[in-house]
Amino acid sequence: MTYDIAIVGGGPGGYVAAEEAAARGLSVVLFERDLVGGTCLNRGCIPTKALLHDAAPQADFQAIHERKASVVTQLRDGIERLLRQRKVTIVRGSATVESAGVVSCDGQTYEARDVVVATGSVPATIPVPGIHLPGVYTSNDLLEGEGVRVSSIAIVGGGVIGVEFATMYAQLGACVTILEAADRILPPLDREIAQRVTMHLKKRGIAVEASARVASIEGEPGSMVVRYADRRGNERLVEAEGVLVACGRRANTEGLFGPGCTPELSHGALVCDEAGRTSVAHLWAIGDVVAGNIQLAHVAEAQGRNVIAAICGNKPLVNMDIVPSCVYTSPEVASVGLTEDEAKAQGIAVRTGKALTGANGKCLVEGSESGYAKLVADAATGALLGAQLVCPRATDLVSELSLAISLHCTAAQLAGVIHPHPTVSELVSAAARTLVP
Ligand code: NAD
Repeated sequence: MTYDIAIVGGGPGGYVAAEEAAARGLSVVLFERDLVGGTCLNRGCIPTKALLHDAAPQADFQAIHERKASVVTQLRDGIERLLRQRKVTIVRGSATVESAGVVSCDGQTYEARDVVVATGSVPATIPVPGIHLPGVYTSNDLLEGEGVRVSSIAIVGGGVIGVEFATMYAQLGACVTILEAADRILPPLDREIAQRVTMHLKKRGIAVEASARVASIEGEPGSMVVRYADRRGNERLVEAEGVLVACGRRANTEGLFGPGCTPELSHGALVCDEAGRTSVAHLWAIGDVVAGNIQLAHVAEAQGRNVIAAICGNKPLVNMDIVPSCVYTSPEVASVGLTEDEAKAQGIAVRTGKALTGANGKCLVEGSESGYAKLVADAATGALLGAQLVCPRATDLVSELSLAISLHCTAAQLAGVIHPHPTVSELVSAAARTLVP
């Protein structure tokens, strides 16, 4: 049988593309060598958020990992049921793209008019002696099965994974140190967010060392030593029961292509146009495997829908210009659109408006930690260009701002919408009002 579409990889990019294609009446074969749901569902977004929700010093470590597993299983069962209902053929095994339109798996050959690669990414490693020792973990190791119970942890990399795991292990009562190479944690986000999150992490007892150069890792599980140079070049060390390395993720293309298929790659990632076309006709790619992509599950999902629309000759279904990003610290962090610095770098004159959690009734009632909502608007037109939030439920509130920015709303229009009282969402209208003359 020749399928309309073959999809390699069943993560948020791949399974959403499969659903979208099948809903349009196309015949679909989906290859997955591990578990449907990919990194996000099985060892990423969902398990971390379940653990962050339950982690507390008195928490039963085994029980919180069991609940995490039951959440993951329920969601995975739902996705598999939906794919079966839509008559997607799921092939379990490691697929190889032999040529445009031909995929092999476990000795069988499958033909398809178009092939979509959605194989995601794997944790990147860094060239540091001792990086492969037992006792050095990736986020996969800490999320799978019963997790890794440690009373102290050194985290190399203060990006999103680093700060979320720092938050979780600190909530469990562990002694946590973050070693970040850049001059601040969460380097792509607004500087003020990094300062605020650093302050909150330190308040929770987490040591944060920015501009740290990790030199070596030694020891054995339960007794590890990380040596590094601090910002002044002084040699220092951290002792911890375990080490998490969270220094980014790299595209997963190893062994993916047969000798007859040589799409253009950049550092192992697939080079694509905006629609997801690779350099080989009828071969497409979406999600973390794409060179230069923002590595977020919701980006992969959106590209999953858009690539099927493109294959069908239709316009994109989802606007890829506005991509919110979220960090599940306490309080939460969310950002969308331009920061003040980015706008200035692009030569756009902006005004910023800010509202503090200290003046918000709901935040005070809940005793939430200090934070803010900051809006960035075009100085000439008042059009909203960006928003940065550090506050309770920031990761939900950011959707209103994503919509406002994508519809080119002005601060005055946002301020003109009634926000219910008392809610954290009033931070948004309060920040918008400061921008209205
Ligand atoms: P990241 O790119 O967010 O952060 C990696 C950090 O490691 C950077 O701050 C970098 O400066 C630092 N680093 C690199 N080399 C280092 C070294 N030798 N020593 C010390 N620090 C070093 O990557 P990540 O945190 O590993 O996450 C991977 C991807 O997964 C990211 O794209 C992230 O956005 C995504 N993710 C998203 C979420 C979310 O949306 N909430 C959660 C987890 C992961």
